[in-house]
Amino acid sequence: MRIGAHLREDDNPLATAEELGIDLFQMFVTDPQGWKKPEQRSDAEAIAASPIDVVVHSSYQINVASLNNRLRMPSRKAVEQQAAAAAELGAFGLVVHGGHLRDGEESALGFENWRKLFERQEDKGGFGVPILIENTAGGDHAMARTLESIERLWDAVGDYEQAGFCLDTCHAWAGGEDLVGLVERVRAITGRIDLVHLNNSRDEFDSGRDRHANLADGHIDPDVLLGVIAAADAPVVLETPAPGIPDDLEFLRDKL
Ligand SMILES: [Zn+2]
Repeated sequence: MRIGAHLREDDNPLATAEELGIDLFQMFVTDPQGWKKPEQRSDAEAIAASPIDVVVHSSYQINVASLNNRLRMPSRKAVEQQAAAAAELGAFGLVVHGGHLRDGEESALGFENWRKLFERQEDKGGFGVPILIENTAGGDHAMARTLESIERLWDAVGDYEQAGFCLDTCHAWAGGEDLVGLVERVRAITGRIDLVHLNNSRDEFDSGRDRHANLADGHIDPDVLLGVIAAADAPVVLETPAPGIPDDLEFLRDKL
């Protein structure tokens, strides 16, 4: 099992990854709070050549489901640009949150916008890397919170080879999905889990809140988390608070 961590605001993620002894790392390619186009990195070749795998997390404002043109259009563009930057790093995917609509908006149109993202890009030869759609924790109009919404989403995007899935354990728990047997239930819908974001939760089941905790520190039984990664058989990335990551890694190495 390949295990790694998200390395936040790190100028030299490769060095940090080597220091932590991890098999893969997740990084941003631009300010995650902004819309700036990714800049060329001086360490791109080194990252691509390294035996340590890399996956990119897209910026947070992206909402490709949105019915608002002024949000959806820059979102599409940002996905395309960040997927291209991810490809330059040799990444195996770009993680993009499922996104959400607003009160009163027709959910079918949001799923259709996800489909169009892939359809339009296909005309341009596809994205630089697969797009790993991540489940999210909150809101009543999310595209990928519940199994029911993931099923509708997959009805829209499932025919596209470049549509992958990233399962976040904190988000599933806080979103109200039982983690026991969840991998099988998700896979029955998507046919694939490309990545697991392994996080405990600072909040209760179905709280709708997205606050990650270190593996031994949250409301989720750590054994249940181990059950998820055993079943998923996919690369694992910790997005837990950074000071606790060495302990989280030790816990996993101990148990696996
Ligand atoms: Zn995540």
